[in-house]
Amino acid sequence: METKKKDIRALTKEQLREFFVSQGDKAFRGNQVYEWLWQKSAHSFEGMTNISKTTREMLENNFVINHIKVDQMQRSNDGTIKNAVRLHDDLVVESVLIPTETRTTACVSSQVGCSLDCRFCATARLKRMRNLNPDEIYDQVVAIDNESRLYFDRPLSNIVFMGMGEPLMNYNNVLKAIDMITSSEGLGMSPRRITVSTSGVPKMIKKMADDEVKFKLAVSLHSAIDATRTSIMPFNATFPLSDLRKALEYWYDKTKSRITYEYVVWKGINDTQKDADALVDFCRFAPSKVNLIEYNPIADGEFQQANDKALNLYINTLERHGITVTVRRSRGKDIDAACGQLANKQ
Ligand code: SAH
Repeated sequence: METKKKDIRALTKEQLREFFVSQGDKAFRGNQVYEWLWQKSAHSFEGMTNISKTTREMLENNFVINHIKVDQMQRSNDGTIKNAVRLHDDLVVESVLIPTETRTTACVSSQVGCSLDCRFCATARLKRMRNLNPDEIYDQVVAIDNESRLYFDRPLSNIVFMGMGEPLMNYNNVLKAIDMITSSEGLGMSPRRITVSTSGVPKMIKKMADDEVKFKLAVSLHSAIDATRTSIMPFNATFPLSDLRKALEYWYDKTKSRITYEYVVWKGINDTQKDADALVDFCRFAPSKVNLIEYNPIADGEFQQANDKALNLYINTLERHGITVTVRRSRGKDIDAACGQLANKQ
């Protein structure tokens, strides 16, 4: 009977070194294999050319290397690329490459499906199947870095955790993935080029502050009025705005890092002066930036993007209070690659 082999990338470098020592080999062998697994993204033991054949066979007998497979790549008219990423257990997540003149941003998934229930988001319609492992997050980034080099002749420059899932509901694995992405033993990217976007889980925002993370925080706010926010993001009933606000104050006190708010203005939902004033009240305790995101309609047409007049009302109100505001146009809409459209449709 075949015993289940372990995922070798679930081991830390230290554990891998200890494993080799326990096999009567040198700890250093662990460093070599670790480099193959992460920096060189090896898909098989066979390709580890500086490791002896006997050792490679021994590894083969004990471990597997689970790697993702980009099943399908779609390219949008605006250059955006969407990858359908197949995991070792055949589940699929999506990641997106967003090019601009000067940057390439990877938008990566942290869970298969999502446990939250934002009513305007296509991913919320898929129930949460499981959390992604650190290597599955890391591999999405590597795949996009390769595509960026291939199609745009430059490396990946930024990463946003705005794909499928709620990253703070898979905090430990997201943190491990970011550690590898930023480590010189992985991709060596600066954490300041990474943004974790959350719908706002207060306890986890405090934990991030305590962990002194160096990446940036974005909060999907969409309304600063409890009744409204609960009607579009029902989990707000469990994590009300006052708790979120306290957690963000704690975050700012500890990190002094500016907070970005993502915000869609919908017709008839949050398009009045009262809504804009509430947003100002909510976020002016710390340096903030508001990204007004264009709404990407999903199946049933229940939500509609507000008109330019409502957007201008927000822009004027925010600017009057010295809050930076940008309007973000959607990218990759024609291939369902824009925010909130990721739902494994092909
Ligand atoms: N769960 C995380 C990250 C994934 S969603 C979060 O909530 O932040 C990434 C962003 O897309 C969030 O700001 C989310 O509110 C927004 N979004 C979801 N559905 C959308 C849609 N249909 N149109 C525009 N933005 C949407």
